[in-house]
Amino acid sequence: EKFVEVKNLKKVYDNGHEAIKNVSFSVKKGDLVCLLGPSGCGKTTILNMLAGLLNPTSGDILFDGKSVVNTEPKDRQIGYVFQNYALYPHMTVLQNVMFPLTVGKHKIAKDKAKAIAEKYMKTTQIMELADQKPGQLSGGQQQRVAIARALVQQPKILLMDEPLSNLDARLRLKIREEIRSLVKEVGITTLFVTHDQEEALSIGDKIILFNNGVIQQDDLGQNFYLEP
Ligand code: ADP
Ligand code: ADP
Repeated sequence: EKFVEVKNLKKVYDNGHEAIKNVSFSVKKGDLVCLLGPSGCGKTTILNMLAGLLNPTSGDILFDGKSVVNTEPKDRQIGYVFQNYALYPHMTVLQNVMFPLTVGKHKIAKDKAKAIAEKYMKTTQIMELADQKPGQLSGGQQQRVAIARALVQQPKILLMDEPLSNLDARLRLKIREEIRSLVKEVGITTLFVTHDQEEALSIGDKIILFNNGVIQQDDLGQNFYLEP
């Protein structure tokens, strides 16, 4: 049942700042869980440790029952959508989405990579943007490219760090609905980081409330009240 399990996780940065203090939580397979908390409370630090971009100071991270703490990011089967999308500016949309399939030891042939990329570009509705460069796209379009690129490798876990924060208010509502349907359609286990309570309530199956490097409340369903 516990697909992602975080046990007594702690992160002290090199400058001595204790960003994560003994945090434990778990995520069920197929769930969309929101990590909710104010800026600076440690949400990105947690995602980076899950992705293998940052080593925990202590504690354990398990995927499907196995510890991943000493494994490489590329061996973790994670898709990561960064806050600023981090698209490659010199590549077209198609090349961006194909990219993860065409590098590394698991790289596959170009025509096959293109077919897989196009499948996810259809799902995220960016087929007509295939030959454009990221600089020509709106925030919402770039966001879809980033999601398609995160999904092409069929990761087991999707990490999204404030993926809506660069969008205007109207687009934010529209895209968050799309993200929820997409995640449910693909069936991927997802951790979605946000500082926006309303957003967390609308998109999450479950909410974990953080503050100051600790969990304040876990397993919040849809019927809870937070002090404003
Ligand atoms: P959030 O994603 O919730 O905004 P972060 O995980 O980015 O929070 O940061 C948590 C805390 O750790 C913040 O106080 C931040 O300033 C600090 N921090 C982040 N990265 C570093 C770092 N490389 N070195 C020292 N402190 C850091
Ligand atoms: P976020 O937008 O997620 O809150 P920040 O803007 O706080 O992220 O930080 C951006 C990057 O700068 C992070 O990846 C973090 O590693 C680094 N960083 C943040 N705070 C510090 C810090 N106090 N010292 C060193 N690096 C930091």
